[in-house]
Amino acid sequence: MDTANKRVAIVSGGGSGIGLAITEKFISSGIHTVIVGRDEKKLQAAKTQLGDLCYPIIHDVSNLPSIPDLIRKIIDQFGHIDILVNNAGINMKKDFIDITDEEFQQVITTNLCSVFSISREVVKHMLPKGSGSIINISSMAAQYGMPRVIAYTASKTAIDGMTRAMAVELSPKGIRINSIAPGFIETAMTAKALNADPERKQKAIGRTPMGHMGLPEDVADAALFLTSDAARYITGVILPVDGGNSIGF
Ligand code: NDP
Repeated sequence: MDTANKRVAIVSGGGSGIGLAITEKFISSGIHTVIVGRDEKKLQAAKTQLGDLCYPIIHDVSNLPSIPDLIRKIIDQFGHIDILVNNAGINMKKDFIDITDEEFQQVITTNLCSVFSISREVVKHMLPKGSGSIINISSMAAQYGMPRVIAYTASKTAIDGMTRAMAVELSPKGIRINSIAPGFIETAMTAKALNADPERKQKAIGRTPMGHMGLPEDVADAALFLTSDAARYITGVILPVDGGNSIGF
């Protein structure tokens, strides 16, 4: 495929919610965008919606040994990767004492270990050209304590630390690493976590100075900015896109 002079992005979990909005924004800027997810129907629907510049790949990112092959396949097809958005994630809302080791590990593997493995494989291809932009999707759960999401919180807090560690090691080599910490954004994930729990939803909105939940496009605009040349001197930041939630009273 002739994408030599075109920008190529990977968005994990690009078939729905925040990832889909980021993919849509990238494609409207002419970026060839590979979306990765487990659900073929979801990915096909995204492809139908977004057209030629959208390339779905069915893949479970929690299958860590398979990640090098996944990235090699993308490199074989496109020749290079300019942008990586580590967006795929799962949540698990349960009381602290009810979470099994397997459940804890599943969240950590999906939300954290896959981010490391995918980034490592992608960075191997960014280093020789001395440029690249990686965005990790964090959460408010890494900004303050939230009950009943222990594994999710552990994973997202580690994402912020990893963002800083990657930034100091890779920025001198031309690769910028940033993180976006979305506040409460209207997606399937928050519908599941909040709609059956009106008290939690009210609490989330009550401490959001802007007074309402955000939309996936709000996060997508920030992602497009962070990957653009306008953000050329920005690396290692954790950018809240949260209507002020992280500083709300
Ligand atoms: P969604 O549930 O809509 O999207 C999650 C995406 O991740 C899906 O497309 C899903 O695709 C993909 N995914 C999950 N597990 C895997 C896996 N093992 N392999 C491949 N893909 C996977 O949620 P959101 O859009 O809300 O969440 C996106 C990111 O934003 C997550 O990291 C989340 O933690 C973060 N976030 C969201 C907030 C919100 O308010 N919505 C707030 C803060 C952070 P598939 O089902 O096809 O596998």
